[in-house]
Amino acid sequence: MDKRELLKFFQWTAFFALGSLFFWPGISLALEGPVHHKIWVKLDPDQKSAQIKDILTVHLIEENDFVLKFYLHGDFWLGAIKIPDNTDFIIEIARAQATEGKIPLTEIAIRKITDLPWPEFLIIEFEYGGKVFNPQNPENAPSADPGIFLSGASYFYPQTLADSGPADLMTFQLTVDHPDDWKVVSQGRKMVETKKGNRVIWEAVNPMEEIFLIANRFHKFQSLHNGVDLYAYLLKPEPELANKYFRATKKYIDFYEKLIGPYPYPKFALIENSLQTGYGMASFTFLGSKIIRFPFILNTSYPHEILHNWWGNSVYIDPENGNWAEGLTAYLSDHLLLDLQGKGNQYRLQQLIKNLNYVNESNDFPLINFKWRTDMPSQAIGYGKMLMMLHMLRLQVGDASFLKALREFYRDRRFRFAGLDDLRISFESASGKDLSNFFAHWTYRKGGPELKLTLATHTLAGSSGHELRIKVQQAQSGPAFPIKLPVAIWTQGNATPEIQMLDMTEKTLTASFSLQGEPGRVLIDPYTEIFRKLDRKEVPPAIGQTYGSALPSRIMPTEGDFPDVLMGYHEFAQSLVKDSSVMTPLLNDDKSGLVPNGSLWIFGRTNAYARRLKPQLENYGVKLKENEVVIDGKSFPWKDHSFVFTLQRPGEQEGSATWVIASSGESIPGLIRKLPHYGKYGVLVFKGKEPENTFKGSWPFQPSGLMKTFHPGKYTLPPQRPLVDYSPD
Ligand SMILES: [Zn+2]
Repeated sequence: MDKRELLKFFQWTAFFALGSLFFWPGISLALEGPVHHKIWVKLDPDQKSAQIKDILTVHLIEENDFVLKFYLHGDFWLGAIKIPDNTDFIIEIARAQATEGKIPLTEIAIRKITDLPWPEFLIIEFEYGGKVFNPQNPENAPSADPGIFLSGASYFYPQTLADSGPADLMTFQLTVDHPDDWKVVSQGRKMVETKKGNRVIWEAVNPMEEIFLIANRFHKFQSLHNGVDLYAYLLKPEPELANKYFRATKKYIDFYEKLIGPYPYPKFALIENSLQTGYGMASFTFLGSKIIRFPFILNTSYPHEILHNWWGNSVYIDPENGNWAEGLTAYLSDHLLLDLQGKGNQYRLQQLIKNLNYVNESNDFPLINFKWRTDMPSQAIGYGKMLMMLHMLRLQVGDASFLKALREFYRDRRFRFAGLDDLRISFESASGKDLSNFFAHWTYRKGGPELKLTLATHTLAGSSGHELRIKVQQAQSGPAFPIKLPVAIWTQGNATPEIQMLDMTEKTLTASFSLQGEPGRVLIDPYTEIFRKLDRKEVPPAIGQTYGSALPSRIMPTEGDFPDVLMGYHEFAQSLVKDSSVMTPLLNDDKSGLVPNGSLWIFGRTNAYARRLKPQLENYGVKLKENEVVIDGKSFPWKDHSFVFTLQRPGEQEGSATWVIASSGESIPGLIRKLPHYGKYGVLVFKGKEPENTFKGSWPFQPSGLMKTFHPGKYTLPPQRPLVDYSPD
């Protein structure tokens, strides 16, 4: 059966099968380059409706028999659909449904009925209208916000795919007529805006994935930066807020242009949304009203959304080949901005902890399968592990090749779809290295290595030299993950180490080093640069772990406290019961030999059980003295201060132990209220009855099984050199 016959057969079935697009054989649309929309929209925001005309230009490559299909939202009425000055085609209308969101669609199929070849260009005119579909409010629920939000999911322009996934790219000119007090924003450049304020034309000459139309009674603010128009569309007249964002936008556009390459669009707009979204789209960001007013957003989420203009919103994501864009955006915004402050290793450690906490055998998947974040495990993998993979890629090729590869990847893949395999090609060409093995293991396999330093010895060599021999193992089941492994070696008399890079391609690696002096300490992966499965014991305990644990035991003091303090502790213990039908163990410290498995809450300074925590506190340099507590060299009198320490549960069992010592009964309600907000801290000090937080700290990360100390001493790790030596400020 040749193609022509096949087509005829399906022509008939198409008339009868509702939603026939799902059973249509894979004859792909032979489109060359992006389609072009010239759209005119007459918007009636009060009625949430529009009258639309689209002149669509399609560039075809082959003379093949195929059917050109377009999809519009099924709720629109259809007016004329025509191909001017051409009688070679027939137009068929059928009903269909989008796979995602089950949106009702109208399918418009264009078939050639003559034997003449397909023309190079086809111009098709569509006229239609009616209620517009807002994917942010699919049920059209009553809302205080009169705003309009239309995207590809609205099907407000004819689309070539009814499915999610990479569609054909498009360029467009969008003219919108609207009421005088409204403003309408889209991608690309604003070409015309009438003085009266009732018509605007946006033009996107770069291929886009979809078309957005966002309208509201916005207050518009404007600035200009090196030829890029900057806008802020706010729901209230707040020039100060707009200026704050303009300053941040300029700073980050400059930073990322220097890092990667020219900003890809003629404008950037901040658009306020009454819903609390945090979206970065091509040439604009759509941020919630509350979100844009948090002062820290300007230097955290905002640079992330701006950077998406390079990664994801101009180099597009091919979701069938691994969404690399979130990990790369997080790596060069969230991570790099902290790395520039010397906190890159802390951020990377957080990613390893998230993977330990959320990812397990049943929900793990390889990076190549990451499409979008749907929950905490997919975020821990798609963002956290992906950025660790990129960091290890940087170790493989070196900083200069890493930056070169990113710049070339951007230059070559801009306005096209790209996947992890394309990223590999750019890195191979920039570095001249074969990275197929690295990518095969890190992107096509799930899991990660469990690293252990299994041997470290040294012998005298020559007159004054020493030879250090080490053995490192990957203890996970399955083959080795290829790693460029940093090793820090301190020799006696030197406070700072020498960093060596080892190539680990097998599960066991032995290496020897000739040293000038006697080795004092050796530490594998000193800056937390390798994605690996942490040992639970390595994770610095924090109060969030105790709050999050299932069925923690509560251990009450039997003596030594005033009645009001004791009552307060019981109130605290009661507040920890989430589900009154489940019995959470409540014990007295005199029976503490029988504490069940799991995490612990321990109350009171005199609690007998708490004595077991003292070695850990001493280890962290915390001194419990007669009249005061010394933490990190700072002194806090027992009087009027409350202390909360979270440590590993002592003994063999897993879990954390949080020790709460209140200064008075009156301070306890405040502790109950405030402590859940300090989840990532291991040590907290509060003052007074309020009580007011005066100290918060995390315990240092102590990698286990990666270090060997030959001689005790003071070994420091100098700050790491960040990827670049310039920062956005
Ligand atoms: Zn993102």
